[in-house]
Amino acid sequence: MSYDRKTQAKAITVNACKLCNPLGASLVFKGIEGAIPLLHGSQGCATYIRRYLISHFKEPIDIASSSFSESATIFGGEENLKKALRNVISQYQPGLIGIATTCLSETIGDDVRLILHHFHQENSDSKQPIIVSVATPSYQGSHIDGFNAAVFAVIQQLAAGGPKTKLVNLFPGMVSAADLRYLKATFADFGLDLMLLPDYSETMDGPTWNNYHKIAPGGTGVEKIKASGRAQASIQFGLTVNPNQNAALFLAEKYEVKSYQLGLPIGIKGTDRFLKLLSELSGNEIPQSYQAERGRLVDSYIDGHKYLFGKKGGSLR
Ligand code: SF4
Repeated sequence: MSYDRKTQAKAITVNACKLCNPLGASLVFKGIEGAIPLLHGSQGCATYIRRYLISHFKEPIDIASSSFSESATIFGGEENLKKALRNVISQYQPGLIGIATTCLSETIGDDVRLILHHFHQENSDSKQPIIVSVATPSYQGSHIDGFNAAVFAVIQQLAAGGPKTKLVNLFPGMVSAADLRYLKATFADFGLDLMLLPDYSETMDGPTWNNYHKIAPGGTGVEKIKASGRAQASIQFGLTVNPNQNAALFLAEKYEVKSYQLGLPIGIKGTDRFLKLLSELSGNEIPQSYQAERGRLVDSYIDGHKYLFGKKGGSLR
């Protein structure tokens, strides 16, 4: 049989790594102070996500699992999840456990909220960490949906109302650890009090340790997350975020926190919109250093235009 490379060559994998919902949720939980992600399902899911995140961030990452066996797959994973919670609490003493469901537990239809209700009832005599849960079936969306769903679940389950403060919530979406640090520095330059969720800028990109930490230092504090319902405003980056997963919209509807949805501040127009909003929220002028940086970029466009004017796509090669 002849083989025609041109017509028959086909990629063996097509975006194989973009589909895992709980991968995005695990990253969100890694951005909360003292938190441990726990996947409700088979062990392979936790292993895959751990392996994938470690390859990308080059940091030690623990992700617990309720380790379904054949019987749990048939009769439900309630006992597995309770045992996993007990193990995680005794091994890590976390401040928060973030449970994300996997394809398997979603397919069999485990009711995680009910299981957690039973767990809390059975352990009412001892102090328990905060437990947040999110449904993340991978056959519905991608890792980005899992990420947004986890941010939404954390806010929905932890935010509390009360007298308004000057706080500003920022939901940056899945950006790099360096971007998160830059955003925090920008808010500080405007004198704004920030609630950034998630914040894995230290937990997933920290310095070398002299002593091993079971849970990496850093992340958004739980008290700060609770205060998000009393903030003056929320900013959600990403113009395509599903309204059902938009934490800023949730806070606007439930606690009357003003909501703004912006594209990522990339390029002059996007950055102008972002900095103008920070200026309005803080009541402060855009700092001189940012104006100078913008000016230098515009200047470089002007300097380069004589080489680039009228050129498009292929003509630049
Ligand atoms: S089975 Fe589902 S949850 Fe588990 S690793 Fe694969 S895509 Fe992710």
